[in-house]
Amino acid sequence: MYFLSDLERKFLIHKLLPTAREVGVSPELRGWSWHSPPLKPFYEDVKLPMYAVCSKFCPTGRDVYLSFVEGLQGVVNFRVALGKVLHGVVSDCLQAFIQRKNLSFESWCKKIRWSEIPAKPQDVLPPAKKVWDYLIKLCEAKYAEIEVRQPYASEYDLMASAVPFLIEHKISGELLGLSGLLSLDCYDYLHSIMFDLKIGSDPEDWYRLAPVGYALVFESVHEVPIDICCVVYLNIVKDKIVVKKDLFFASDELRNWWIEERDGKMEIVAERKDPGRPVGTKCPDDCMYRPVCFK
Ligand code: SF4
Repeated sequence: MYFLSDLERKFLIHKLLPTAREVGVSPELRGWSWHSPPLKPFYEDVKLPMYAVCSKFCPTGRDVYLSFVEGLQGVVNFRVALGKVLHGVVSDCLQAFIQRKNLSFESWCKKIRWSEIPAKPQDVLPPAKKVWDYLIKLCEAKYAEIEVRQPYASEYDLMASAVPFLIEHKISGELLGLSGLLSLDCYDYLHSIMFDLKIGSDPEDWYRLAPVGYALVFESVHEVPIDICCVVYLNIVKDKIVVKKDLFFASDELRNWWIEERDGKMEIVAERKDPGRPVGTKCPDDCMYRPVCFK
């Protein structure tokens, strides 16, 4: 899922990295400049999760108002349920492989809390099994490839080279006005790439905001630069897994966009401002807050 193909690697090495080195990132837009404007959060008492800052699913941000000011929960639909299950299968499968846990897909299924997922097992488990099997094959192949090249490496070292991912790494976003309990999808620590996983989605420009946000948080905590981000689109089409990647340079423009979104969402919550429903733009048919906004 997070392994780059040969073509993606060429694009990274010959296009993105030279651009990142040539253009660079302004010092005030590195996460470690969290104590000065523009990164310094204006409202110190508001702490938001990353999804609230980065989601532009609701055109006005009213979902943030309903959730964090009114304390209302959206109604989870099938799209969200499938997303949760596939997101879970990717994280848990990779973590089990990296940590050499003896976890089978069948044992993993027993951990699902079906009361929280409005979907029938027969609708979500077959695609989840496909994703599980695909990931195991991919990881085993990568491990075997490294093992034959490094016969004297320990199992730990082989794993660190073959599957160099921090999965669901816990990190605090408090320096940037975010929750102290963030969990990033994947960080490739050998190539310094921040990944974010999207399930079954058509590409959207604003999906780039989440990995850029996590890159800023990582920079604020660990003081290491992250120039490259990637949105991974995982889709199931006619029973087949389709994976596409949007690999990009975390430029000043994207960093400024993230700050603008954060400040706007923080203002909604701190000032208890209801932005209302969009005018001239249709609300998405599957918005979880439709029952509240259109009652
Ligand atoms: S129904 Fe419309 S206004 Fe309400 S949260 Fe959803 S997208 Fe926003």
